[in-house]
Amino acid sequence: MSHLIRTDDFSTAEIEALLEDAERFSQGGFHRILQDRIIITLFFENSTRTKSSFEIAAKRLGAEIVHLDVARSSTKKGETLVDTAMNLDAMGPHAIIVRHQNAGVPQILSEHTRASIINAGDGAHAHPTQALLDLFTIRRHFGGDVKGKRIAIVGDIKNSRVANSNIELLRRFGMEVILVAPPQFMPQTRLETTYNIRDIIDNVDIIMSLRTQTERHSAQTYASLKDYASDFCITQELVGDRDLIILHPGPVHRNIDIDDALLADPRCKVLEQVANGVSVRMAVLKKLIHDV
Ligand code: ASP
Repeated sequence: MSHLIRTDDFSTAEIEALLEDAERFSQGGFHRILQDRIIITLFFENSTRTKSSFEIAAKRLGAEIVHLDVARSSTKKGETLVDTAMNLDAMGPHAIIVRHQNAGVPQILSEHTRASIINAGDGAHAHPTQALLDLFTIRRHFGGDVKGKRIAIVGDIKNSRVANSNIELLRRFGMEVILVAPPQFMPQTRLETTYNIRDIIDNVDIIMSLRTQTERHSAQTYASLKDYASDFCITQELVGDRDLIILHPGPVHRNIDIDDALLADPRCKVLEQVANGVSVRMAVLKKLIHDV
């Protein structure tokens, strides 16, 4: 049984095929290849986009989807997470989509289930479908060839599973990644880094802005988000008329991560990312449940 825990679970050739499927699915419509298949979602952390995106993807493929209401589940009665997953697995689902605040949970569950485990985000570790949809969005914008394109990832990189997954995936596809963050949000890395976005703005094709992951901070790291914004908000004034695109995985802190003017600018691909997320997740479900 194959699982998707991290982007490197899929080879480059597998990802090429997956993105081709996603391209086909992006034309719209239903492709009911997963009729009589059951998918369970198990979300221990909040989600707007990822959960509904997986649900729409599953429905457009004709699968049945069951959401476990974690707040009312037996994990609240002291059952271990592995036992919960094994009990759900005994009901015979084809996939279980898991989000958890602790890194490593989807990997552990995958060692105890027959169903495919799909990681929908685990702590600060990985968010593979987000990175796949980001790659898809970037490739579409640049007409397929992304080798040598330079992307600045800006913000709370140290605590971001989106950054981790994107760094692995985008570099594998030949892109150069530059990390832009204040010292407290900068991970240990061999990649190019800077504390000042103005140092590199003339030399990037893409800016990926990230939300400050306040829920993962043990202490307040900035006097206020406004102080952070004065150094790291991607503004109309900063970007000017440069030929670049702006991505953000959402949820966006408006005027902290990206300003209102730029969010309304056609170079900002946030809603395209959301739309592409459905097509890419359809392709992931097809690969793990149908093509096996
Ligand atoms: N939605 C993304 C995630 O779940 C990014 C974020 O929450 O900032 O990781």
